[in-house]
Amino acid sequence: MAPPPPIEVKFLGTCTSPIMTRNYSSLLVKLGHDTVMIDCGEGTQRQLILPHVQAGVKLSNIRTILITHLHPDHILGLTPLIFSMMGLSSAPGKDDRPRLELVGPLGLRAFLRTTLSITYATLNSCFVVHELLWPSQPAYPHHPSGSFIYTEEDIYLPPDVRGQTRTLPCMPPHANELPGRDIRMDESTGTWPRILQLGNVWISAAPITHRCPTVGYVFEEAPTASKSVSPRDLAILDSNAEALFDLYQIRHPRSLLSRVLKARETLTLPDGHVLVPPPLDRPGRKLCILGDTSDATAGLEDKGMLALARDADLLVHECTYAYMREKDVLAAPSPEHAQLLQQLLLAEGEAEPRALSRGHSVPRIAGSFAGLIRARHVVFNHFSARLPAPHTMSHAPLTSTDQLRPDARLAESEQWFHVMREIERQVTEFWHAFLPEDVRAHMGDRRAVAAYDGLAYILPPLSP
Ligand SMILES: [Zn+2]
Ligand SMILES: [Zn+2]
Repeated sequence: MAPPPPIEVKFLGTCTSPIMTRNYSSLLVKLGHDTVMIDCGEGTQRQLILPHVQAGVKLSNIRTILITHLHPDHILGLTPLIFSMMGLSSAPGKDDRPRLELVGPLGLRAFLRTTLSITYATLNSCFVVHELLWPSQPAYPHHPSGSFIYTEEDIYLPPDVRGQTRTLPCMPPHANELPGRDIRMDESTGTWPRILQLGNVWISAAPITHRCPTVGYVFEEAPTASKSVSPRDLAILDSNAEALFDLYQIRHPRSLLSRVLKARETLTLPDGHVLVPPPLDRPGRKLCILGDTSDATAGLEDKGMLALARDADLLVHECTYAYMREKDVLAAPSPEHAQLLQQLLLAEGEAEPRALSRGHSVPRIAGSFAGLIRARHVVFNHFSARLPAPHTMSHAPLTSTDQLRPDARLAESEQWFHVMREIERQVTEFWHAFLPEDVRAHMGDRRAVAAYDGLAYILPPLSP
């Protein structure tokens, strides 16, 4: 059987605020026929068409958007994107199924109803919003009445969020909104398991610690068969042609192959031979894509994201801030190099307190979580505006200063290249240190990659 297509993660925006070389958070997960967008910061629509980003996807291909949390840098691009996708000038959709499916924490429905209604957004196809609910959160109804005020009380939320009272606007559904699901967390696993299925891939979510209710998403591909039916089985099938026609009026015996290969049925042929589906020997891939976080375990042991994301083939973790420890300064290739990095990065006592107080990560946090879940590949994103991307020549991960674009900003670009390589080195150090010995042995010198707008990270199918 033909192997499944590569899975591509395309980074559209990798920053907490818009700067020359980076935009607000958004990325695409391309799964063969399906493209899923995760988060949609302001300006994401423009990132989709910018030549240096090479998104390689049309708006019409995006039918699923997953939102990690409702901070503005992750959702303010949604309303204009929906307007372009489904506004009156776009192709009309079919009414029987939603043109766009959105998933996100409680409040996403209220946000879209409010912004679409206030901006006179008339759409010509339908959308649906499924909300992820923490155990004690009330569901936002399809037809709300009265006020919608509630207090956060879940132990799954960070202590400073607990006790906060939140008021959501009470809005009726948009004219083009279909009733969505209210998906409550499964407390036995600390996850929202199997929220959506796209082809061979299931999407689940788990809570992660940030300054507001936040999730990460895990994509799990089902295993597939690497082999088809053997030539011997084909010959046996053909030799039953006459009997199959006489008994069941089947004109083309090989039409039964889809029942064996796709529906995975065991078929007993008229002559007594049995056709068995080939074994599912090619493991599926697993991707874990997190929203903003200072602790992706959310304090849960053996459940939540720690269990859901275990053995991920790719982890995308934020790393908003970075700093130089004394040992990092000593590891630099030269004193001048170390001095440059120290100038550009925060001081040791400054970065981590700042990250933790704002619900964000530093290389230590991103790398150690990658090691804890035994991630095979790691990309980190969501940089503060202090960490621009170097200008790049290619869309492969930037590994050499030769790939820098020779323009007037080259000197500056080269500095940011060295900064990103240093952060990659630090994340990789923690990642490898937290990996169990047997996994680390297969890892070689694989390093974590700092994302930039336009990076395409490719996961080829796994070997049987
Ligand atoms: Zn953010
Ligand atoms: Zn945030």
